[in-house]
Amino acid sequence: MTYVVPPPAVVSIPVAGGDDRFPVRRVICVGRNYEAHAREMGKDPTREPPFFFTKPADAIVPDGSAVPYPPETSNLHYEMELVVVIGKDGFEIPEAQALEHVFGYSVGIDLTRRDLQFAARDLGRPWDWGKAFDNSAPISPIQPAAKIGHPAKGRIWLSVNGAIKQDADISDLIWNVPEIIAFASRSIRLKAGDVIMTGTPAGVGAIVEGDKVEGAVDGVGSISITIAPRQK
Ligand code: MN
Repeated sequence: MTYVVPPPAVVSIPVAGGDDRFPVRRVICVGRNYEAHAREMGKDPTREPPFFFTKPADAIVPDGSAVPYPPETSNLHYEMELVVVIGKDGFEIPEAQALEHVFGYSVGIDLTRRDLQFAARDLGRPWDWGKAFDNSAPISPIQPAAKIGHPAKGRIWLSVNGAIKQDADISDLIWNVPEIIAFASRSIRLKAGDVIMTGTPAGVGAIVEGDKVEGAVDGVGSISITIAPRQK
């Protein structure tokens, strides 16, 4: 048997502190998971069940990347997020066992073509073209839970050209990590290799070519990217 076109390469994220890499299956993102961000998006931050969207695995780019400004937008936004990586398959995972399925944690930026996302939202269409574009998921090296445990609090922040734009705490998550895993695994079988971006705090905004975007979650990791000239 031969493939008729070259099979896609396995996308992977480095595991901090060695040469190991984590192979990625898909990127699952949680929408509106901090109250102040839900409000700034014009939505009522009541505790409605979490909702999800996805990005392809190969949207991931490493820490330190120069990310080309994407096509078809004039309103590219950053969204700083805690990232959870799944190390063990599971369906209908109870909250009490959810953390057993976590390999580790990292941080990422859910880059968003806000103009396309809002146009889709307002027409009742899927968000994909606003969220799931090339290079839209810069993600830092993974810290294994075996090393750092399961952080439930810690400052999450992001700066653009040195000016702080987002500053919150992961304890402000509307739905915490065990709850997210429990909810998601009711709809799909979570598999080792799945990466979950847990949502962004308030303070999202636009970035342009030449901007330097840095962020971190204390105790988990940090990420730094620059926005390069438009994608060719
Ligand atoms: Mn997001």
